[in-house]
Amino acid sequence: MQAVAVFPRSRDVRLIDIPEPEIARPTEVKLRTLHVGVCGTDREICGFHYGTTPAGEEHLVIGHECVAEVVEIGPRVKGFRPGDRVVLTVRRRCGVPMCAACNDGRQDFCYTGRFTERGIKERHGFMTELLVEDQENLVRVPKELGELSALVEPLTIAEKALIEVWQVQQRLPWSCPTAKDKRPGHCHHAVVLGAGPIGLLGAMAFTNAGFSTFVYSRESDASDKADLVRSFGATYVAAGDTPAGDLVSRIGTIDVVYEATGASALSFEVLTQIGPNAAFVFTGVPGLRPKAEVDTDLIMRNMVLKNQVLLGTVNAGRDAFEAAVRDLVEFDAKWPESVRRLITGRYHATDFKTPLLSTDGIKNLLTFG
Ligand code: BGC
Repeated sequence: MQAVAVFPRSRDVRLIDIPEPEIARPTEVKLRTLHVGVCGTDREICGFHYGTTPAGEEHLVIGHECVAEVVEIGPRVKGFRPGDRVVLTVRRRCGVPMCAACNDGRQDFCYTGRFTERGIKERHGFMTELLVEDQENLVRVPKELGELSALVEPLTIAEKALIEVWQVQQRLPWSCPTAKDKRPGHCHHAVVLGAGPIGLLGAMAFTNAGFSTFVYSRESDASDKADLVRSFGATYVAAGDTPAGDLVSRIGTIDVVYEATGASALSFEVLTQIGPNAAFVFTGVPGLRPKAEVDTDLIMRNMVLKNQVLLGTVNAGRDAFEAAVRDLVEFDAKWPESVRRLITGRYHATDFKTPLLSTDGIKNLLTFG
């Protein structure tokens, strides 16, 4: 069967033939791949800037945003049947006995750094026709979501951030004195940096959680992305019209920042703008660019005198996957057109180069079979 693979040593990305995987352990499930989303990480791997092949191998099969259908189950599989739709988690345990996180199934918090990630780090990914995976790494999705389920994995980044923001802010009398029908975030301002898929999905999640949400990005106010942001009730702020230093005068106090750009200089500038008791969440992984200057005294003074929190988050646990599935069902009910506008291209696997080599559109999908 066919798979999309990267060969870092020979700097090549091509379709290869690999044998069909078979169930080898009783808790494994065999899956037929339906859609695989293409993301910035895949493009970086294809540019040979990121990603690691499995030990002793020349290539890495890429892809980590996958929707699949169960075709066969091992004898000890519980809760999945042929025909079920699932999404797959990405990170696998490090296997080191003292790693409390991996032992607990929370490899997204792995202590040793020896975790693997399917399609990214030392383990083949999902851009292939058939897969075998242990049931513990599968999350069921409703069939009715169709190809929208390919948005689950990128949405988990925001869901994990939201879970952590609520946990961190338990330190404060932060929850609004809410009326019962209001969502928990409703008296807070959230700023999302970036209008790529991670930013836009994050903006939907923050809006759905009740935050007044502002998306700050480089596209103009007349762009499709700005229009998309407004279509689900968030506010678009074009960086060209509002310098980062004017954000507070434009939108008011900033209570949360969800960073989804990987642009560190911009992020640290916005960090100097956040309000009392605010939380700032980094999700982007910057490349190593020339050093930028930051006002460390100002940041440290603010963080202390205003009780601010800065946190980074990567990958996601089952709780975030389940929250993402619930949220996507809600987005689909509330904003069906907006959520569909996130999927901008569908390509057959044989045409893999088009979405992997260009940055056009928002979320492009590869289809197998
Ligand atoms: C993936 C995460 C992964 C991270 C770092 C992201 O693109 O969504 O699952 O942990 O890259 O490799």
